[in-house]
Amino acid sequence: MKLRLQPIRVFCLHHVTKEFDPETMHECDWMQIDEFKNKVMSLQQSGVRFISLTEAHDKLQHDWFRCNKNAVLTFDDDNASLKEILPWLEEQHIPAALFVNGKYLDGKSYRNNPQEKYLTKEELFTLVSPLLEIGSHGWEHTDASQMAQSDFENSINRNVGILSTHPRYIPFQAYTWGRHTPLTDRYLRDQQIIPVLVGGKKNYCDTKYIDREIL
Ligand SMILES: [Zn+2]
Repeated sequence: MKLRLQPIRVFCLHHVTKEFDPETMHECDWMQIDEFKNKVMSLQQSGVRFISLTEAHDKLQHDWFRCNKNAVLTFDDDNASLKEILPWLEEQHIPAALFVNGKYLDGKSYRNNPQEKYLTKEELFTLVSPLLEIGSHGWEHTDASQMAQSDFENSINRNVGILSTHPRYIPFQAYTWGRHTPLTDRYLRDQQIIPVLVGGKKNYCDTKYIDREIL
């Protein structure tokens, strides 16, 4: 039995910007940049160390004793607004994982409305800092639990086909809205891809899933 394990908290974020843009953002997916910085710094002051998702997963697999408090920052949807927050994280030497839908990297496609701006493929492939990791969010922003299994598998293959050529690619799939089925989980595990949820739980030693909470 594993003893005295401090949990690893994994936070799920979307837009972190100075100003809220109602055209392209939802309030539940947005955090004001100063509020974000204050939260991150107050966690650090309370002894939390920010680590990469890969390091977190490694610790969940192997730690028999964990007395340090660790946390991970993750950002979904490859929004162009990432350009506002990534430089600050880099300055602070804080790692982050980005979960990307390959479809929108073409600079033309969009999820809900044509005003939405995403990082282009060119921009994403210039993000090669060792502090960053790039995981999959599916080819399109679709609900895995509502897809035919073959469509889900194609969506993963197509997305991973592009993202795995990125030097900072990591084999993790953040399910959109955290929705999944036993079959989608099984497919990911067969592909050695780790499923990432948004169930609000802290992680102790379960390596079948990484769970996330809202910051
Ligand atoms: Zn998403």
